[in-house]
Amino acid sequence: MKVVLQNLTKTFPSRNKKVHADVVAVNNFDFEIADGELIGLLGPSGCGKSTALNLICGLLAPTSGKIFFGDDDVTALPPENRGVGLVFQNYALYPHLTVQQNILFPLQNVKGADRLSKADMLARAREVAGLVQIDELMERRPSELSGGQQQRVAIARALVKTPRILLLDEPLSNLDARLRLQTREELRRIQRETQITTVFVTHDQEEAMSISDTIVVMRSGVVEQVGKPQEVYDSPVNLFVAKFLGTPPINVFKGKVIGETLFIGDDAVLTVKGVTNREVYVGIRPEGFTLADSDAVSDNLLRCKLNRVEVMGRDVSVVSTHAASESETIRAIIDAESAPSFNAAEVGFTVKPAKVFLFDSRTEKRVFFEV
Ligand code: ADP
Ligand code: MG
Repeated sequence: MKVVLQNLTKTFPSRNKKVHADVVAVNNFDFEIADGELIGLLGPSGCGKSTALNLICGLLAPTSGKIFFGDDDVTALPPENRGVGLVFQNYALYPHLTVQQNILFPLQNVKGADRLSKADMLARAREVAGLVQIDELMERRPSELSGGQQQRVAIARALVKTPRILLLDEPLSNLDARLRLQTREELRRIQRETQITTVFVTHDQEEAMSISDTIVVMRSGVVEQVGKPQEVYDSPVNLFVAKFLGTPPINVFKGKVIGETLFIGDDAVLTVKGVTNREVYVGIRPEGFTLADSDAVSDNLLRCKLNRVEVMGRDVSVVSTHAASESETIRAIIDAESAPSFNAAEVGFTVKPAKVFLFDSRTEKRVFFEV
């Protein structure tokens, strides 16, 4: 089922007595979620992710704009008639019911002609329990389950009525690191198997990048960029998106372009054709550095003070500083085999043009260059 958000806006009255301006939690959302796609809504806390999800499921009514499921305008449809499955961060299971009763609950609530027979309800509950691999746990109560198991029950309960759309609001946040990884892979498998169009909300960029077909990066109610995770990583439209994606994070420097040459501090590091003289932020991904030979006499070197080298197995992480760096340290990830001894006080890097992004120092928007 395709989902279309059309100029969707939600404002709340200000909670702050001193600030009377409304909060625009979702500001003019205008994009389409393809049928069968898993879309990751990504952004920092308070940027409007849950509000967007609640608009899609109908728990909130938009201030303006429309929502379509396929060709149906569902904007005025109450949530119970939208055919959405919902999973929240806290599993919200009924504590006094068994796993099986929890999963059956949505089916038992169906009135009229659509109500299944008892046997069909049970068969359906068993089917989704099998899908999320909790068949063995059907007679337990939520208190007798781990967090990961509880979240699986919540997912099964959301799937039991075969929703048209599955909406997940930070579903993995309450799980410990290992379970989070495992459950996220499970979720991806379940989504692939069921082909249900899914909106996955998270503030964790790594989670969003790894699970999503498409990510929507948000800030303060505004969609900053929509694209495949790799595309957005490889070509961020502004400094915020560049900084939000990637671990370790992108290195940011103050720089300037003079005569189509990019300077970071006094170091001329790259020829940037087509860019007029201006001040810029320079973002360089950790994998965008190559260590120069210590005796190299090159013009295009970023000269940094070496702090330390962290061994990470196949790669090493070179931690250094530079006067023009925005953050305290610069992190360069380089191949362990190309790493010489690090006794020097200084390191010189050349930079890979595809891993270097320029942003206008005032608007923070991307400035493109030719190599
Ligand atoms: P997220 O899920 O990304 O953390 P939310 O969608 O919960 O963000 O909130 C977005 C903004 O809207 C925040 O500034 C929040 O304080 C505000 N907000 C959310 N719900 C309400 C509400 N019911 N009343 C007033 N303001 C709200
Ligand atoms: Mg939220």
